[in-house]
Amino acid sequence: YNSTLVAVEEPITPPVSVKHTQLLINGQFVDAASGKTFPTLDPRTGEVIAHVAEGDVEDVNRAVSAARKAFDEGPWPRMTAYERSRIILRFADLLEQHTDEIAALETWDNGKPYEQAANTEIPMTVRLFRYYAGWADKIHGLTVPADGPYHVQTLHEPIGVAGQIIPWNFPMLMFSWKVGPALACGNTVVIKTAEQTPLSAVYAAKLFHEAGLPDGVLNVVSGFGPTAGAALASHMEVDKNLNLKGFWFPKKLLNSSCGNSCDSDITAQGCLQGSLRAVVPLAFTGSTDTGKIVLELASKSNLKPVTLELGGKSAFIVCEDADVDQAVELSHSAVFFNQGQCCCAGSRTFVHEHVYNEFVEKARARAMNRSVGDPFKVGIEQGPQVDSDQFEKILRCIRSGVESGAILETGGDRFGSNGYYIQPTVFSNVQDDMSIAKEEIFGPVQSILKFKDLDEVIKRANNSRYGLAAGIFTHNLDTANTLSRALKVGTVWINCYDVFDAAVPFGGYKMSGNGREKGIYSLNNYLQVKAVVTALKNPSW
Ligand code: ADP
Repeated sequence: YNSTLVAVEEPITPPVSVKHTQLLINGQFVDAASGKTFPTLDPRTGEVIAHVAEGDVEDVNRAVSAARKAFDEGPWPRMTAYERSRIILRFADLLEQHTDEIAALETWDNGKPYEQAANTEIPMTVRLFRYYAGWADKIHGLTVPADGPYHVQTLHEPIGVAGQIIPWNFPMLMFSWKVGPALACGNTVVIKTAEQTPLSAVYAAKLFHEAGLPDGVLNVVSGFGPTAGAALASHMEVDKNLNLKGFWFPKKLLNSSCGNSCDSDITAQGCLQGSLRAVVPLAFTGSTDTGKIVLELASKSNLKPVTLELGGKSAFIVCEDADVDQAVELSHSAVFFNQGQCCCAGSRTFVHEHVYNEFVEKARARAMNRSVGDPFKVGIEQGPQVDSDQFEKILRCIRSGVESGAILETGGDRFGSNGYYIQPTVFSNVQDDMSIAKEEIFGPVQSILKFKDLDEVIKRANNSRYGLAAGIFTHNLDTANTLSRALKVGTVWINCYDVFDAAVPFGGYKMSGNGREKGIYSLNNYLQVKAVVTALKNPSW
């Protein structure tokens, strides 16, 4: 293996200390109800960074109650959209001012290069919040020309309490994709962070409160998937103490809704306790296997609407006319960015046979020159994988590639002897039926496959249970048009990759998920449409 790589030296002390390790519920930092904590680890060494509150069912219940109350009684959905927008903008400013600190937390918890966190992920997060702050006062319904003497309008209303579950690969960016549109639309939120990376979101949520966010609007629960995550996905009864004072309910309506028998038409608040169920929209990003569980929990509980952003096995197609040096560079970053831990990683590199040999040689050289090392160090392109589970899984995938007969061009093993670093790995001669060409590896492993013509590569690229993204490298307009229309994926990048503008929708075909996040599309996930039909007294006017 190439010895010019940066050696993994003694880890550099992160330029930050951990301030917040508790749950943030109803604007307060609190311990888990059980008092339990779990360690979050430094992937550079496997050592403990901090012990973090381990949220579970009871904490999720507390958080949902707080969010429900903030929605039903609090100022958030009632303030003007302009005021909501200004709070989100103030938060974006605070986030920007704290970029260094948050980026350092990201690097420490996740292992990603500090320079990438500070120059890419946090600025994109800030931009995302500013984008959705801009939407807050531009959300409105329509007037509808109905048949008959009616004035018809639609109101676009927030749904209520949004449950959100995020992964560990881009903790702050995923936080923004979820929280930004939900809050801009006037919902309240309970978000569960990934157990590998709990530190940054709770720090950011604290800043949100400093920006003027009312208590209970944004609640952050750290904890594990099968406990806290599952509790959120299957949450059913959102708030038992709806504020119905001053409202009058006929006995019949009440009895039909709660199944209890009431004596009087004018109800006491208590009668409805525990009887009304509210729908929680749930937004999930993570693996396809977990997505299936989450969807099942959601449908088994209360059929809450779910958006899923799941795994991928995206094709990066290098066409016959490609400038090989440029194609190598772009396809390299498409798969190796973020240690390969991207759902849309361009992990199947299809290369036209006419440029294949040159491409493989140069792709190998590029991977060998990738700078791997302590992610706090300047100039580092690749840090450690997030944890030992991912590290072991990637090494298993690499072994399977070797066993199935792919040619290991470079890499193939751990990097150094400490922490979860993996050598940038390139396989050539990869065949479609090998598991490295089918399964999501989520690591720094490039699989290069040879193709002859467009029809063939379209079929092969589409022959996947996933459909998240694709990259096309060509300057031939017809080729680009043909491929971009034929590929069954949610995003096509032509002569670029991983361009994540706040205004551009992102999401998957097939088992890469459903729904779209970012842009105008995400607003639909957090709004309900109400039709209001008014009979006209004098229709001739
Ligand atoms: P990975 O396997 O890469 O860690 P996951 O899809 O398991 O990815 O994790 C993404 C998010 O889903 C994390 O916040 C995790 O805690 C959560 N999660 C995992 N299992 C479940 C589950 N059974 N129910 C709800 N959330 C879960």
